[in-house]
Amino acid sequence: MTIEHVVRDGLCTQCGTCAGVCPQDALRMRWTLRDGWLPEIDHARCTDCGVCDEVCPGDGFDYGSGAWWRERNGDAPFRDFLGPYRGLWYGWASDPDTRFAGASGGIATALLQGALEQGDVDAVIGVRMSRATPLAAEPAIARSTAEVAALRGSKYSMVAVGEALREVRASPGRYAFVGLPCHIQGLRLAQRRSQVLRERVPLTVGVFCGFNMLPRATCVAARRIGVDPAELTLVGYRGPDWPGELRLHTRSGALHTASFADYYDHYVAAWIQPRCRTCADALVEPADIALGDTWLERFYGSPGVSDLIARTSVGYDLIERLAPARLTLMEASPEEMVASQSATYRVKRPVLRGRTWLRRLGGRAVPEFPGLQLAPSTSDKLAGIRDLLTETAYRRLGEFRHG
Ligand SMILES: Cc1cc2nc3c(=O)[nH]c(=O)nc-3n(C[C@H](O)[C@H](O)[C@H](O)COP(=O)(O)OP(=O)(O)OC[C@H]3O[C@@H](n4cnc5c(N)ncnc54)[C@H](O)[C@@H]3O)c2cc1C
Ligand code: SF4
Ligand code: SF4
Ligand code: SF4
Repeated sequence: MTIEHVVRDGLCTQCGTCAGVCPQDALRMRWTLRDGWLPEIDHARCTDCGVCDEVCPGDGFDYGSGAWWRERNGDAPFRDFLGPYRGLWYGWASDPDTRFAGASGGIATALLQGALEQGDVDAVIGVRMSRATPLAAEPAIARSTAEVAALRGSKYSMVAVGEALREVRASPGRYAFVGLPCHIQGLRLAQRRSQVLRERVPLTVGVFCGFNMLPRATCVAARRIGVDPAELTLVGYRGPDWPGELRLHTRSGALHTASFADYYDHYVAAWIQPRCRTCADALVEPADIALGDTWLERFYGSPGVSDLIARTSVGYDLIERLAPARLTLMEASPEEMVASQSATYRVKRPVLRGRTWLRRLGGRAVPEFPGLQLAPSTSDKLAGIRDLLTETAYRRLGEFRHG
């Protein structure tokens, strides 16, 4: 499928990989409030080489046991949804400030700072909120531990991290790449065909993802706490402590906040990016290391705990070197780690199967994921219908009440 078909059929994940690898520099990701980041081709420069189509994860990704990227997992045990794992832990950054300021346990920041300090990589590709367009999240390249710290926190807005591969191709060095499952899928597809990208990106850190939002979700959240989105100067989604708060800075210098539980509800979820509804990977199977929130009651009230999965020897070795000085870890069982993601499991299995079935029923294109069992049961179909009705109702109601 060409990337133009992927976009037209609503399959674009907005990962940005196509724009990062185009040898003619004929592709740019363009941001709009309505749609987030979408690729735009300059047909005058395009030579129809097809590279962008080859690296696009929009129409699917191979999760089969023989998929080429699984070579990195060696003989690691494997479970559906959890993926391959060499080590499973709950943990947090040993530095209390990093832990407190991170989205969950500050593990991503501590790992990436450690990889820089120990010379595993020269730079880190991550995500920041734009100063020029406060509702947009954008890729950023950090070259010092202070710059890595500035990237912390989850950005609940679409971001085309793969576009940073343009800089990786142009500037030799070794980069760590932090991304959601669709970003890491795009990177792996790009690395499959590029020796340069295999050498220059030796480390990937995957951030768990249930779904991400169109920029409109942040507008709705802002209006509900009395903030005009046009007045925003800086947006933060997971402020200090755990689970953190929405923090909106405005032109007047004021800071407006809402707790995670108060802003992250059905009204906000009505603006999930449509392709996220048919995304099968939550725990970033193709990454070296994957991490997310530990949603387990026994940790509630603490300043933040992360699920941490080492999937490859590269990931395992780095974690071993950084604990306990930078990372405080306790071993986890596969069963309890899946339980810590029960809400996300529901989204990425029963609801996904139901929503995919509904799309097929409507004659719409769906992504293919060889290796995953995604045939819907009757209860999956009902879960899909319920999810679609909830999304539609809250989107309409939200448009009526919050403009
Ligand atoms: C859209 C989204 C959905 C998520 N869904 C889930 C979920 O369903 N279940 C769950 O347990 N956890 C989920 N998470 C992960 C969780 O919110 C934390 O990001 C994760 O636990 C890491 O916390 P930390 O304190 O270790 O990271 P920190 O030390 O705070 O560092 C966060 C790192 O993530 C990167 N990052 C932030 N936002 C993005 C983004 N949008 N795209 C790519 N990279 C980004 C930053 O560059 C930074 O390096 C989600 C995160 C995002 C961004
Ligand atoms: S076909 Fe080739 S030149 Fe054209 S946009 Fe895609 S990668 Fe660029
Ligand atoms: S590579 Fe990513 S951004 Fe480009 S069309 Fe495919 S899914 Fe969309
Ligand atoms: S759910 Fe997350 S990983 Fe999947 S397409 Fe959406 S943003 Fe990407």
